[in-house]
Amino acid sequence: MEDKDLQKLIEEISLKHFNTPFLHKASFNHRLKTTGGRYLTSTSNIEINKKYYDALGMDELVGIIKHELCHYHLHIQGKGYKHRDADFRFLLKKVEAPRFCTPIHSPISKPKTFRIYECVDCHLQYKRVRRVNTNKYRCGKCRGKLRELEKRVDTQQ
Ligand SMILES: [Zn+2]
Ligand SMILES: [Zn+2]
Repeated sequence: MEDKDLQKLIEEISLKHFNTPFLHKASFNHRLKTTGGRYLTSTSNIEINKKYYDALGMDELVGIIKHELCHYHLHIQGKGYKHRDADFRFLLKKVEAPRFCTPIHSPISKPKTFRIYECVDCHLQYKRVRRVNTNKYRCGKCRGKLRELEKRVDTQQ
């Protein structure tokens, strides 16, 4: 797939899902790393990360394009085009675009488990993702010794 194919694809998706033509330029950007694509407010052009297409295929590419087109159309219409804007969220849902792109390297974000440490003297509790060397680290408040409690807590990232 080359830039001209991408351009054509975005124009088609724009008409099909937004009923409005895409009148700017689309291109692959090879320097994008952690995002699937981006919409440039200065030029109204859309850039797509080709690595996502290569790694995850057409479905993912269409999802990214719909997401970027939500930014595009709302921005041009002078509506809320940013991620937290209500207009943006509404349009994303309407065209069934993903809120965020799937990261290539970690498709599923694992919940983080915290270990709980407690100061034996003042009972202040500490949450730590990593193991703490209780021989070395002391309570920040009273310098007392820490001990690890058996309970752990999971948080959804
Ligand atoms: Zn976005
Ligand atoms: Zn303490």
